[in-house]
This record gives sequence, C-alpha cells and structure tokens, in this order.
Amino acid sequence: MTPASFDGLGLAEPLRLALKTENYLKPTPIQAQAIPLLVEGRDLLGIAQTGTGKTAAFALPILHRLAEQRRPRTPGRPHALILAPTRELARQIDDRFRAYGRKLHLRSAVIFGGVGQGQQVKALQQGVDILIATPGRLLDLYAQRHVNFDQISILVLDEADRMLDMGFIRDVRKIVAACRKERQTLLFSATMPPDIAKLAAEILRNPVRIDVSPATVTVDRIDQRVYFVPAQAKRDLLVELLADSAMDRVLVFTRTKHGADKVCKFLRHAGLAVEAIHGNKAQNARVRALEAFRNGKARVLVATDIAARGIDVPGISHVINYELPNEPESYVHRIGRTARAGAGGTALAFCDSSERAYLRDIERLTRVSLAVVEHRHTRAERVEAAPHKTPSNKTTSNRWRPERQAAAPAAKQSWRSNGRRGNALPAARGALARPRVARVSLTGESR
Ligand code: AMP
Repeated sequence: MTPASFDGLGLAEPLRLALKTENYLKPTPIQAQAIPLLVEGRDLLGIAQTGTGKTAAFALPILHRLAEQRRPRTPGRPHALILAPTRELARQIDDRFRAYGRKLHLRSAVIFGGVGQGQQVKALQQGVDILIATPGRLLDLYAQRHVNFDQISILVLDEADRMLDMGFIRDVRKIVAACRKERQTLLFSATMPPDIAKLAAEILRNPVRIDVSPATVTVDRIDQRVYFVPAQAKRDLLVELLADSAMDRVLVFTRTKHGADKVCKFLRHAGLAVEAIHGNKAQNARVRALEAFRNGKARVLVATDIAARGIDVPGISHVINYELPNEPESYVHRIGRTARAGAGGTALAFCDSSERAYLRDIERLTRVSLAVVEHRHTRAERVEAAPHKTPSNKTTSNRWRPERQAAAPAAKQSWRSNGRRGNALPAARGALARPRVARVSLTGESR
C-alpha cells in the first residue's frame, strides 16, 4: 500500500517542506517504492513512463544525498548527471530539481542542443552540483573539455528507450564510460527493448527493479475511446469535437511534422487558438508554443511524438490521436500526457482503415479494447473499408449542425463506458454521435 505521506521515506526536512509547497501530499507508488532505497544508495531499474511521478522519485533522493555529502563545487565537474532524450524533458527535470531543492544550497544546470553553447559553458564554469543534459550536446562539450565526469557519483538515464529510438545510445554509452566507476546508477525506461536490457545489465550493480507498468497506468485512470473514421473525414471530426468547450486543454498527436503543421493550419482556419510543436521548429518557437499551451493562450497543441516527449502540462483534459502511432508504446506515452499524477483524463483515437493494425497492436500492449464511439462518419468509414458499396452522400456530406448540441446533456449523462470511470463523452451530440460501446476488457481479452 502507498504510504499516506512523504514522512518516513527518509527525506530531509527541507525537501519535505518543498513538497508541501508543491502540494504533493502523498507519494505516488514509484516514489514510495524507490525513494527509501535510493536514499540508501541502491541502483535502480525503473520501468515507468512520465506521469507516474518518476522525476520526483529520483530527484528527491539525489537532492537528499548531495545535500548530505556537502561536496565542494568544482568548475566543469558536476556530482550528479541526468541524461534525457529531449530538450523539453531536460528543462522540465531541471525545473523540478529547482522546485524540490529550493531550500537547499545546491546548483543545477541544463544543457541541450539547438541553442548557443555560451550560457551553458558559463554555467559549467561556475560549478554545478546537478547537470541535466541531452546526450549530443553534452558529448560536444565534453569533447571541448568544458565538462568532465570524474566526479559523477549519481547517474540517471531517463527515458532510456526513447534515447535508443532517437539514436543516442552510442553517445550515452560514451558518457557512461567516462563517468567514475564508484557511483549510483538509475535507469528509467517505459519499455525494455533488448538493447536497453543489455545496457541496464552492463551499467547497473545489483539494481532494485520497480515496475510501474504502462498498462496499469493507462487502464486505471484514462478513459480511452476510438472513432473509426475515414482519413479524409478526420479534419471535420476534430473540428466538431473541439466545438465542445469541455475540451479545454487538448493535445493532438500526428505521426509527422508535416502532418502537425497541416492540422495546426486548418484548426487556426477554423478559428481555434492552436500551436504546433515538432522537431523542425526552432527551440524558441517550441518554448513559446509550450508556454502558450501551459498558460491557456493556446487551447490546442498539435505535436509529434518526439517533440511531445517532455511535455508535462498539468490539466490536459484530452489527448487526441489524430493519427495513430505505428509503435504502440508511443500511444501509451501520448495518452499519459493526460491523467497526470492521479488525475483523470480522456484519450480519443481516430483510426482510419489503414491504421487498424496499429490499433490492434495498441490494444494488445495496453490489454484494453478501446470503446468505439459511433458518429456520423462511422458509416462512411465502413463504406471506405468495403469499397464495392456505393458511398451514401448523406453520411459523407452531412455537415455538423450546431442545433444538435441541444441534445448533448442527455447524451452526456447516458454515456458510461461499461462502468469504467470517465468523463462525459465530448462528441456525444445527440444524433450526431450515438455512442456504441464495444466490449471493454480490462483483463486482456480482445473484442
Ligand atoms: P513525472 O512522471 O515525473 O513526469 O510527474 C508527473 C507530474 O506529476 C508532474 O507534474 C509532477 O509535478 C506531478 N507529481 C509528481 N509527484 C507527485 C505527487 N506525489 N503528488 C502530486 N503530484 C505529483
């Protein structure tokens, strides 16, 4: 059972006070399990994705241990190193370290590519206790001798599977090899592909293994539904759904950067406050887009998987998979952006006929059959799947009619996805979207 408070996990008083300020009342399961062991100096293999509270699970014990050790700072020689796949995630981790460590006298810095290195080099020269970095830029600075890893006593590889996907694994290995041997090492990964299992076996010493499996995370708190919809009707469906003001902070995922730009454009055209974030955008543009989403100026953020990796924006009401990811793990990461730290959330998937196999993979991985929402495009989708039938003009050209909204409250009330907890169905607009619920399995059987 998860303890009712952070007392008793072995954390120093200033950290517990900072947690109160953050309004963290109760540790998440990974925090409750990991913190006492990490405070003692154990190595850890954590199977966990963002949204589980894993950042605090490692940041708090690191701060605790470094504060206890009181080692003097030397220029370019940090004591703890956290490697993360993306700049957004790196910044966010740094932000968390600063928040949790606000009552300690420890210094952190964050390093990532895509911006000038001057400020980063300066920060290193001033001396830092904790360094958070993406591997590429860090290795560049290492090659230029701005940083040295011989004082690293705690090393964290965060989102190791994503670092592998992004081609960073060789850089990671080089960095690990340059760290001193006597150290505490933590590796977090949402999945355990063979290359990561091998890396873990090589670099961890007698690690504790903590598994906060994605299936549990997604099944428990996120209301997941799928719309079968022809590719060409996805735009209309998205605009229709977004007409519901209950969708107040919406993250829309596409597979490609180009796709993200296209969705952003037509949503803007439809008069919505929307931003896009993907790998082709300059760092400043990414930061601006994320900030607009965070402070509510943009109600919708369109993102690709890699750019979205570090997004931790509280209160995301809906995640929409405008295009399904071809890797089922990405689906789990995507929908984990809602339902952060114990809150509820809704994840909607748009699945066209070419994406059925992706959906099957997702359902196999999460061991949940998504509830199917029937809507006005559904018939067209069936026709699309069976081209020998003549499409009915009525179903394909029937524009959404706002007057149908009048039926919404009744539809909302009647909607419950097979007893699962969940929000009212945003698209359940009377005749527009009569939900048909598929069998929802929480135990792994398919429909
Ligand atoms: P993470 O999985 O580390 O990305 O954390 C997800 C979100 O949960 C972040 O916004 C954290 O600030 C928040 N969080 C982490 N631990 C707790 C906790 N014990 N209580 C409340 N919120 C938390």
